[in-house]
Amino acid sequence: MNIGLDLDEVVCSLMAHVLNDVEDTYALELNLSHFKHYDFYNCAYTDSPHHNLNIAEYLDTLTCNTKFLLGAKPTPHAKSTIDHLRSKGHQVHIITARPEGEELHTYLWLSNNNIKVDSVTHVARSTSKGRIGKALALDVFVDDYAPNIDDMLEYNSKIRTFLIDKPWSKGYNNSRVTRIEDIKELLNQI
Ligand SMILES: [Mg+2]
Repeated sequence: MNIGLDLDEVVCSLMAHVLNDVEDTYALELNLSHFKHYDFYNCAYTDSPHHNLNIAEYLDTLTCNTKFLLGAKPTPHAKSTIDHLRSKGHQVHIITARPEGEELHTYLWLSNNNIKVDSVTHVARSTSKGRIGKALALDVFVDDYAPNIDDMLEYNSKIRTFLIDKPWSKGYNNSRVTRIEDIKELLNQI
């Protein structure tokens, strides 16, 4: 099978890395429950709208900083799950909304963490992951951001989709999607 994986929060534990940094920089203890929305600018981190805007701007810059991104750790079980899937003959493709042109950094991060995949595609935020998924003839797709799941299903109604359960995806309901906590659950599902 062709298996598509989003990068951040599926394979790369970016938010844990972000939360550690915010604690050091702002002396502010945030946790994932502060991120009820996918967009940093819609989240309330403090009671002050002014501080919230500053923090959102900081987070926006931080998550575009390739050097910072390189320091993130893989999500628990990402490497073992991908290794297992590939050992069974499945192909694993990373599809991420990280900026186009920065693929080398993703390959470097994967290499640093000894994670081998079959391809990496960066799509601009305005570009459809569904279109890429169709081109790769994906059978399975995993993401933590529900609109990407919807997009994938729009391009391929037969694809099996899995949504990593996060605060920003709580309100999403779709009977065609399987919610999972951890990427390792894929091994029992496909
Ligand atoms: Mg993600």
